[in-house]
Amino acid sequence: MNYDLLIVGGGAAGFFTAINVAEKIPGIRIAILERGKEVLSKVRVSGGGRCNVTHAEFIPNELSKNYPRGEKELKGPFHTFMTGDTMDWFERRGVALKIEEDGRIFPVTDASETIINCFLTEAKRLGITILKNHSVKNFNTNGAQWTVHTSQGDFETAKLMIATGSNPKMWERLTDLGHTTVAAVPSLFTFNIKDPKIKGLPGVATEALVQVKGSKLSSEGALLITHWGLSGPAILKLSAWGAIELHKRAYDFEILVNWLPQWSQNDVIDTLHERKGQFSKQYIHTYAQFELPKRLWQRLVITSGIQEDTRWADLSKVQCNTLSEQLTKSSFRVQGKSTFKEEFVTAGGVVLNEVNFKTFESKKHANLYFAGEVLNIDAITGGFNFQNAWTGGFIAAQAIANKKDD
Ligand SMILES: Cc1cc2nc3c(=O)[nH]c(=O)nc-3n(C[C@H](O)[C@H](O)[C@H](O)COP(=O)(O)OP(=O)(O)OC[C@H]3O[C@@H](n4cnc5c(N)ncnc54)[C@H](O)[C@@H]3O)c2cc1C
Repeated sequence: MNYDLLIVGGGAAGFFTAINVAEKIPGIRIAILERGKEVLSKVRVSGGGRCNVTHAEFIPNELSKNYPRGEKELKGPFHTFMTGDTMDWFERRGVALKIEEDGRIFPVTDASETIINCFLTEAKRLGITILKNHSVKNFNTNGAQWTVHTSQGDFETAKLMIATGSNPKMWERLTDLGHTTVAAVPSLFTFNIKDPKIKGLPGVATEALVQVKGSKLSSEGALLITHWGLSGPAILKLSAWGAIELHKRAYDFEILVNWLPQWSQNDVIDTLHERKGQFSKQYIHTYAQFELPKRLWQRLVITSGIQEDTRWADLSKVQCNTLSEQLTKSSFRVQGKSTFKEEFVTAGGVVLNEVNFKTFESKKHANLYFAGEVLNIDAITGGFNFQNAWTGGFIAAQAIANKKDD
């Protein structure tokens, strides 16, 4: 079969490319080749089934700061297509969106099905062929046409878009074609920690600064104690920025937690001394200080060797120092990671200096395009990973359509 454009991968980036090309060139012959029984399966499970489509950050340079890999390269593309454009794109197609307090943007239905239906309706309206159970095994070019070999036969196309997400086999094929790829490493995970300091405190959450010992990695934000360790935005951000480094350390490393990120240890010591005078008769253990969650305060007090019946007046200098240290430099050993079920990505993919970010076309082969996670781009949690797929898909679509017009 002959097509004008073949898209390998029926995910977010593949559909976004196909729809945007078909809108610009009515009648163009486009097919999406999807290896699975279903298309858009990651969209379905995304954001806990609600699909966090993008994030309410409307300044391109600020938006790009959420990408540990891709920050520099996405700045330009975001000036062409970013958050506001994504919202407009969906809303013009009848998908109402809402911005949540933390900036994440979802369909008002809170159902990823809404996004899937939008894509499938648009694909049908525009005559895009969707070929499920078509696993692409290889592809090559004679300079004029691409031949794509699938589990169900061969296809010819003028232009080829690879939107296969983080499938290492596709990276191998691209390496055969002269591209360089970076091996996959997990990003967005939580830390496994067995430590009496947090045992039995699942659900306790507070703002904190977390640093990885022996590295420059640090992150500030909400920290959540779980049954198996630590999670929350502070940890997820750290897992994304530290994806490569933490993988190298086989997920065995130490972190320091400052439970009072706005405070230095010396300020904490001064304040504890003030409390000695202010609350001299009260038990230290009873009332949480520094607006910390009570159960966490009590655990840190006990960890500092201060008994439940110690009054503020009796706080010794050593105890005061130990408590200040527990409050600002609690040390934990991380041994292993757990999957964050709401969102998961891998770092790795086609190296970025082999791609023209004005068109998302390969610099090695004409008429070969990439979008989404197949590239060595990934983001922290919050809707940024889909934004990468939408931006890449949109810009590639414009480039593909304009080339056709030449
Ligand atoms: C559980 C989970 C929740 C997530 N939630 C969010 C969220 O709420 N917000 C957010 O921004 N990001 C989220 N992400 C990340 C987001 O889903 C991805 O970044 C995004 O799907 C990438 O889109 P893509 O099109 O590049 O790849 P994919 O969505 O992975 O699509 C690639 C497609 O290519 C197909 N394919 C692969 N190889 C072949 C082949 N050889 N032949 C044919 N087809 C092939 C695959 O089957 C797949 O359908 C989540 C990820 C997970 C796993």
